[in-house]
Amino acid sequence: MRSAKIIIIGGGVVGASAAYHLAMRGETDVVILERGSIQGTGSTGRATGGVRSQFETEINVRMSLYSVDFFRNCEFSTGYDPKGYLFFSTDTSVFEQMKRNAVTQAAFGVEGIEILDADGIRKMIPAMNCDDIVGGVFGASDGFINPVAVMSGFSRRAIDLGAQIVLGRSVSRINVAGGRVAGVSMPDGEIGADAVVVCAGAWSRGLAESAGVNIPVEPLRRQIVWARCKDRVPENLPMVIDAGSGFHFRPAIDFWEPEDKTGSGRDILFAYPDRDERPSFNTEFDETFAKKVYEMARKRARFLFESEPEREKCRAGLYENTPDHHAIIGACGVEGLYFATGFSGHGVMHSPAAGRAISEIILDGEASFLDVKCLSPERFERGELLKESGYI
Ligand SMILES: Cc1cc2nc3c(=O)[nH]c(=O)nc-3n(C[C@H](O)[C@H](O)[C@H](O)COP(=O)(O)OP(=O)(O)OC[C@H]3O[C@@H](n4cnc5c(N)ncnc54)[C@H](O)[C@@H]3O)c2cc1C
Repeated sequence: MRSAKIIIIGGGVVGASAAYHLAMRGETDVVILERGSIQGTGSTGRATGGVRSQFETEINVRMSLYSVDFFRNCEFSTGYDPKGYLFFSTDTSVFEQMKRNAVTQAAFGVEGIEILDADGIRKMIPAMNCDDIVGGVFGASDGFINPVAVMSGFSRRAIDLGAQIVLGRSVSRINVAGGRVAGVSMPDGEIGADAVVVCAGAWSRGLAESAGVNIPVEPLRRQIVWARCKDRVPENLPMVIDAGSGFHFRPAIDFWEPEDKTGSGRDILFAYPDRDERPSFNTEFDETFAKKVYEMARKRARFLFESEPEREKCRAGLYENTPDHHAIIGACGVEGLYFATGFSGHGVMHSPAAGRAISEIILDGEASFLDVKCLSPERFERGELLKESGYI
């Protein structure tokens, strides 16, 4: 291949969504270059699979509202399962903030938000120790999606419409000539392009630098324990999150083989954001993490603490963090160079909105379905950072 109108670097859920949305608008001279030999082995296939509208900032809430509607109604299966998200707190001031956020979310149109006291939470999850809990918020339209199914659905449809996904192609640099994008280089050659979209998740910063652009995306390892409980996990268990420590758990599903029933309803995922973690590209699962997270489980729920880890299914992946924990979506000083990256742990749930936004920015100059200007790469230089308390 010598050239393409639009090259997308990265074939995870965000790159796939960008290709899908471009193709749906009739722009099919689009090529995704993905360095992996299969799609989804970046962060997408390692995610927890949660989707929620429980955020603080308007842009995050609106990205979620759009995306949940998409997951519910789109033409392919996304695994959307509205089991809900329960955020709880052991701290009165955090609970107050959660209640304020709930009011804002309802004002933006989020439905099914319920404020609960400790007794309400105890009734909802009888197997959880609620002695130190002051209250929480349950979002009934939140829940689960299958990140691999979402990525595959976007990809299949984009290919049907004429886009291409080329695997095993690693972009080494983005070429710029006269202030505008010229294409990309790989170890085995170059491809010319009118536009290049960086959807390379945690690996985006180096690619941007090759074009002389600074985007502050930092990789941070996040680990998840997969374990088998003695009995079936509680019926209809939502995503449950301690808003203070970030400790969370959910029933486990193998996103690559969602029909696999070997766990017989006894498998669970649990994790927390380890504050000792430092930015790196390390994606090894670490036994000391398992010890730490089991210690947190001891206090919270016997069924978690007494579970047996399934070592080969425990995993680690990378968050693609930005300084304000919001995505970077938009154009930059190099004409024809675009970014949809830096989702800071929310890229699967926000992939429908992100793909639509970047396709409209490329084709029309700006996104009209939702104002995403606050996510532009230039906000960091301008000092216009956003503030989100709902970052886990
Ligand atoms: C443990 C964990 C739990 C998470 N839980 C959730 C959750 O519950 N809900 C949620 O919404 N999000 C969650 N996330 C975040 C989510 O996984 C990411 O935000 C999302 O997958 C980002 O998608 P992406 O397509 O931007 O990146 P990726 O999936 O990482 O895809 C980027 C792709 O770019 C490719 N690439 C990189 N460099 C190059 C190059 N030079 N040339 C060619 N290809 C390249 C990579 O191989 C990769 O496939 C979680 C993440 C982790 C690690």
